[in-house]
Amino acid sequence: MVVGAGLAGLSAARSLESSGHSVVVLEARERVGGRTFNGTTADGTVVELGGQWVGPTQDRVLALADELDLERFPTYNGGENLVFYRGGTARYRGAIPKLPAPVLADVGQAQFRLDRMARRVPLDAPWQAKRAGDWDAQTVETWLRRNMRTSGGRGMLRLGVRAVFAAEPADLSLLHFLFYSHSGGLLDRLFNVKDGAQEERIVGGSQLLALRLAERLAGPVVLSAATRRITQDDDGVVVAADGHELRARHVVVAVPPLLAGHIDYEPGLPPWRDQLTQRMPMGSVTKCMAVYDEPFWRGDGLTGQVTDDVGPVQLTFDNSPPSGSPGILLAFLEGTHARELSHVTPDQRREAVTGCLARFFGPRAGTPLDYVELQWAAERWSGGCYGATLAPGTLSQFGPALRHPCGRIHWAGTESATVWAGYMDGAIRSGERVAAELHRLL
Ligand SMILES: Cc1cc2nc3c(=O)[nH]c(=O)nc-3n(C[C@H](O)[C@H](O)[C@H](O)COP(=O)(O)OP(=O)(O)OC[C@H]3O[C@@H](n4cnc5c(N)ncnc54)[C@H](O)[C@@H]3O)c2cc1C
Repeated sequence: MVVGAGLAGLSAARSLESSGHSVVVLEARERVGGRTFNGTTADGTVVELGGQWVGPTQDRVLALADELDLERFPTYNGGENLVFYRGGTARYRGAIPKLPAPVLADVGQAQFRLDRMARRVPLDAPWQAKRAGDWDAQTVETWLRRNMRTSGGRGMLRLGVRAVFAAEPADLSLLHFLFYSHSGGLLDRLFNVKDGAQEERIVGGSQLLALRLAERLAGPVVLSAATRRITQDDDGVVVAADGHELRARHVVVAVPPLLAGHIDYEPGLPPWRDQLTQRMPMGSVTKCMAVYDEPFWRGDGLTGQVTDDVGPVQLTFDNSPPSGSPGILLAFLEGTHARELSHVTPDQRREAVTGCLARFFGPRAGTPLDYVELQWAAERWSGGCYGATLAPGTLSQFGPALRHPCGRIHWAGTESATVWAGYMDGAIRSGERVAAELHRLL
């Protein structure tokens, strides 16, 4: 039995079936895909409101896309990017924004040091890093304040942290940040489009990965069946979900740890697991798409990528479909900006977002034909996104509980991955890892 039909749960089910086991998947939502979700614009164009990009070294998601006959296309990256900094604007090519030399030097030096520290964090046991206790006793914000010289440089790295975690540097344990960065291949790989995590997209939208995986399973995927209670004894588990009570030998729980902690377990879970899930809050992101008849910024020689030091939108991308029609700008509200704008009406939020787009790309950007957004913190079965953000003291003291089974209950989900943790690739790897763990047992 698998709880959760995201990429982790579906990959686990697929791997288990291919080793000859029979599996039922229970899913709370009325759809599969979890944190991947294909929305649509008024004219029917697919817009990915959840996870979307894939990139080099994400071998498992790339292989899965190939196996499921899904094509990929490059993220639009032709032309120049824009950086808005201290009231000025500059155009630049490539990954390094045009900023004052002392700011760039400060960011470069900090990134070099963070990468060097990240390499020292063992991916399968971050808590065993030599300085784990020290790094897990501080936040990323504390480190930035102590180790960077310019406020501009700190501002840029704060923006980078929001972009990767949808959280504030003050929310995050430095050890978790270093683990995450190492797990994805260090900071440049996480930040960049070319040769980075934002390099490519999936034609038709990333939710197709989950939809096709589910279609190809032999066993049932039961939708609208939130698991409420898991009881285990010497013979097996009984899973009570909305409208269903099912018995199995083992259960894989493949949901974000925070939500795994909302399930009622009988007998109760060991304290180390329960306290882990109490300490894994989800990030805050609202993903917004503004739709135009064409990607007019391309005609001005722009990629559609903006970095802004004020916000509330601090990052944008050209998210048009491969045909280039319609033109779509993707605007992120992340961390504090997503939180502040969760208190206003959808119209006020739209106005704040399109106001930023007009500031970046001119008045035409301020009046899109259509606008679609998803506020992930309001999604009951995600609790926020992109993933769990660990506060100090969590990974070093509770980390082993991420993957350690509790009797017949086994844990999957991108948060439990060692490689590309937090990403679609990590979710798939975690599903395959838990299936191998179970296969050995069974
Ligand atoms: C806005 C956004 C942008 C992102 N961008 C990227 C990106 O560009 N590239 C990338 O690789 N990743 C990205 N991610 C992250 C990526 O989407 C996730 O890492 C991945 O999809 C997680 O998969 P999962 O299976 O571990 O978890 P989930 O997708 O969360 O799956 C868990 C499933 O369990 C279900 N569930 C929860 N509780 C219960 C319950 N009690 N009973 C039954 N079912 C339950 C949920 O409904 C869900 O379907 C992004 C995510 C978001 C939201």
